[in-house]
Amino acid sequence: MVGQERLQRLNRQPVRKGRYVLYWMQASPRVQCNHAWQYAVERAERLSLPVVACFVISPDFPDAQGSHYRFLAEGLRELGGTLGDYGVRLVIRYGDPADRIPGLAADAALAVTDCGYLRIQREWREKVAAQLECPLCQVETNVVVPVEVASEKEEWSAATFRKKITGKFDRFLVPFQEKKPGKSSLSIESGDDTDPAAESFLERIMSGVGEKRPGISSRLPWQGGEQAAHEILDRFIRERLDRYAAERNDPNAHTLSGMSPYLHFGQISPLDIALRVLATGHPDAGVYLEELIVRRELSMNYVFYNPWYDSYAGLPDWAKKTLGDHAGDIREYRYTPEEFEEAAIHDPYWNAAQDEMRYTGKMHGYMRMYWGKKILEWSESPEEGFRIALALNNRYELDGRDPNGFAGVAWCFGKHDRAWQERPVFGKIRYMNDNGLKRKFDADRYVDRIEELKEKSGEKE
Ligand SMILES: Cc1cc2nc3c(=O)[nH]c(=O)nc-3n(C[C@H](O)[C@H](O)[C@H](O)COP(=O)(O)OP(=O)(O)OC[C@H]3O[C@@H](n4cnc5c(N)ncnc54)[C@H](O)[C@@H]3O)c2cc1C
Repeated sequence: MVGQERLQRLNRQPVRKGRYVLYWMQASPRVQCNHAWQYAVERAERLSLPVVACFVISPDFPDAQGSHYRFLAEGLRELGGTLGDYGVRLVIRYGDPADRIPGLAADAALAVTDCGYLRIQREWREKVAAQLECPLCQVETNVVVPVEVASEKEEWSAATFRKKITGKFDRFLVPFQEKKPGKSSLSIESGDDTDPAAESFLERIMSGVGEKRPGISSRLPWQGGEQAAHEILDRFIRERLDRYAAERNDPNAHTLSGMSPYLHFGQISPLDIALRVLATGHPDAGVYLEELIVRRELSMNYVFYNPWYDSYAGLPDWAKKTLGDHAGDIREYRYTPEEFEEAAIHDPYWNAAQDEMRYTGKMHGYMRMYWGKKILEWSESPEEGFRIALALNNRYELDGRDPNGFAGVAWCFGKHDRAWQERPVFGKIRYMNDNGLKRKFDADRYVDRIEELKEKSGEKE
């Protein structure tokens, strides 16, 4: 049974006579460890109805590039097959979910959806809920502890949030019994939909989303989908978890889990990952869970409670004040957005980080901090630096456009952090420099590695 605390009714419509239960998958298009899917299956069983699943591809999702759509589509193709094995049809539509879902729910007794926290995702749900003539039930399955249960307000820092959320692990860090749906052959009339089983599915999706920003490759070395997510997780647990605590800040060590693109697209559940890591009984499991749950869910807390999460205005007052006090300070270097984007600045470490992101779609976590801090330092103004960092992060990171991206960029500008010793340009914001990198790892080797990678990817194209 899916717990009540994960569940919210988004409108007041009564369950009506219908032909199916609609699961509008949007933030969590997966089958494994998906509370929303389970809830749809349970309700359908009780109503003796089949489940129909659907996903709406929004071709205009802010900052989404071909690489993002390809990864998403690879996941949807696999999901279509998995659901098909249960006799459940995955219906794919293009457009604005607020326009497409009401039509798909026309004969539904009840509709279920999952839960992303970005403004656009919340607006979609509100608009859909207002139009449906059946209930729309939202089921939280993208975090371990539902955001409003974890805390009732915007948290100041990881320290304040940790105290609250860890006390709730007993209730939420628990496996649940997964049910399979009964066989069904019901399908919705096909309109302009796309069949995930078709050979040409990927090409159809890519042509449907249209030409995105030129020069950004849609082919990155990541395969989307649940199966790939679980294979990467298995390998991480087998080969790297025991090095994670000691080596996670070394970009040459290849120690990170690689889960962020899959978490971002909802192709793997954070609960699933956490339970798998805990089951190893490894003494350092807690270090990983601190990142996966405390840090990640602090980002959800930020975007949920702070309406300005995607702009400079979302920063804490003390950070804006100190940055404002130093806005007139002389900057040793100043770069335009284009120079940053092209990795054409004086600093080889920064350029390597930018190139790692451009060519692989995933910059190492430690380098992300340095990268963001240096954009702050070498931009025309802190506001301009914030805009540049967020735009590049969202455009090039496969896991970008995520609460973690908004919180990560904001962290470079003081969010969720404390005041440090005052210095030029940064004011009291935490500072980082390349000597810090060199103390932690072989930074020149990192530059060489990224150079090789760039050459290889050039050969491929
Ligand atoms: C400037 C900046 C931008 C960032 N942009 C993004 C982004 O767009 N999308 C994104 O998912 N993460 C972002 N992060 C957070 C973090 O760097 C990535 O989550 C991490 O590097 C992803 O790689 P991984 O899954 O292999 O990490 P692992 O170290 O293996 O961590 C496992 C999971 O824990 C969570 N996690 C790890 N570090 C953090 C962190 N610092 N904050 C919040 N959650 C964390 C992530 O969900 C991650 O997938 C950003 C951080 C900074 C400083």
